[in-house]
Amino acid sequence: MPMARFFIAPPTIAPMSPPDAHITRELDAVIFGGGVAGLWLLDELHRRGHGVLLLEADALGAGQSIAAQGIIHGGLKYTLTGLLNPSAEAIRDMPDLWRRCLNGEAEPRLTNTRVRAEFCHLWRTQTLTSKLGMIGARKGLVVAPQPVSDDERPAALRGCPGQVMRLDEQVVAPYSLLNDLASKHTDRLLKIDAEAGLSIDTDAPAVVTSITLTDGGQRLTLRARHVVLTAGNGNAELRARCSLSQDAMQRRPLHFIMLRGPREALPELNGHCVDGAKTRVTITSDTDSQGRTVWQVGGQVTEDGVDMSPDELIAHTRRELEASIPGGSGVDLSAVEWATRRVDRAERTMPNRKRPDDAQLMVEGNVITGWPTKLALAPRLATRIADTVGQPHIGPNDLTTLDWPRPAVAQPHWETATSWTTAD
Ligand SMILES: Cc1cc2nc3c(=O)[nH]c(=O)nc-3n(C[C@H](O)[C@H](O)[C@H](O)COP(=O)(O)OP(=O)(O)OC[C@H]3O[C@@H](n4cnc5c(N)ncnc54)[C@H](O)[C@@H]3O)c2cc1C
Repeated sequence: MPMARFFIAPPTIAPMSPPDAHITRELDAVIFGGGVAGLWLLDELHRRGHGVLLLEADALGAGQSIAAQGIIHGGLKYTLTGLLNPSAEAIRDMPDLWRRCLNGEAEPRLTNTRVRAEFCHLWRTQTLTSKLGMIGARKGLVVAPQPVSDDERPAALRGCPGQVMRLDEQVVAPYSLLNDLASKHTDRLLKIDAEAGLSIDTDAPAVVTSITLTDGGQRLTLRARHVVLTAGNGNAELRARCSLSQDAMQRRPLHFIMLRGPREALPELNGHCVDGAKTRVTITSDTDSQGRTVWQVGGQVTEDGVDMSPDELIAHTRRELEASIPGGSGVDLSAVEWATRRVDRAERTMPNRKRPDDAQLMVEGNVITGWPTKLALAPRLATRIADTVGQPHIGPNDLTTLDWPRPAVAQPHWETATSWTTAD
């Protein structure tokens, strides 16, 4: 089935405005960056009665969110590494919160977000580390994974050794999630030219007095009580423009792999092959606009691949998939095409470059910088930022009449990749 399409306003050519029109708006908050973090926060602040606008420099989610596998993690990785400390425990609540939003029982109601899978599978190989990893996963998770019967196994896992488990983590399609959130707020989203069309005025470090946007002959000045940076990798540059240190952010490079092919060669699969404290491969599936199955492969291979060329990573991933998915499973890797993409994860700097285990925010002057750490933690970041912002002072602002270009949602990487190759 072709990928479902959702619609929000495409980037528009602004209707003609008088030359050099200059508009000024008072707001409670301006958000930079419309990935999952910024969009979820926009929804939260708007629902709490704030006058708020979101500024996007590219397409919504163009950094990490559109590249995400869409797994609503509940702590598997922390459980495997024995790092489920109190702050990491926050992630345990995420699957239930997301499920209620996706069912339309909690805000934001995400009933137009496509759920690719209601749960992930966990499986193992024959190695001792893999067997131990599976035991760890069963013991440590808040909702223990449940064994599935042989008949319920997905086609790709029919020949797996040991038990195949069902892990209570949904998988969403990031494209439809971004679209769902954005479509509730089209009037509050502005496309900006972050280089030539943006100036940020500060009184002192981290005290932003005004933000001025230009587009053709139009000029828009925003005076906001709070400026929130949720621009992923763009946070470093924006912090510099607010006279704040760029060292607050670390980047973690990833090189991930996509496979596409006919359903008979590449059946749908969502889940993790557990190996000791790692997930050897994490596979999520979707359908592209031509009706082919697409697998996105994450897990350890995406970190192994950082120093590899695309060809090396494809060869490495092929070996890893052959080892992780036993023969006779109905997966035919000789019939698929492969492509890779590099994306940096943007995170708050941690001592020793550790990975943060929770959503992170920094409050300096009237600037709040946020990194969700994971897509699954976007609701937690939004609540924490909204609590920091406090009560609305300005309140909802009528911005519906503003003529300004609006951002589109980024396309999934498998729709835009051009360098597909066979691995033979
Ligand atoms: C390959 C991969 C797979 C992942 N899989 C998962 C997963 O399965 N589950 C999970 O929970 N997490 C996953 N993650 C992590 C998750 O994707 C990120 O934590 C999350 O998407 C970060 O969202 P964000 O909104 O902070 O940043 P981004 O999604 O990067 O959004 C930042 C936005 O800011 C915009 N921007 C940049 N600069 C500016 C500027 N100067 N002005 C205005 N706008 C600007 C960008 O265009 C972009 O739209 C994955 C990450 C990667 C890379």
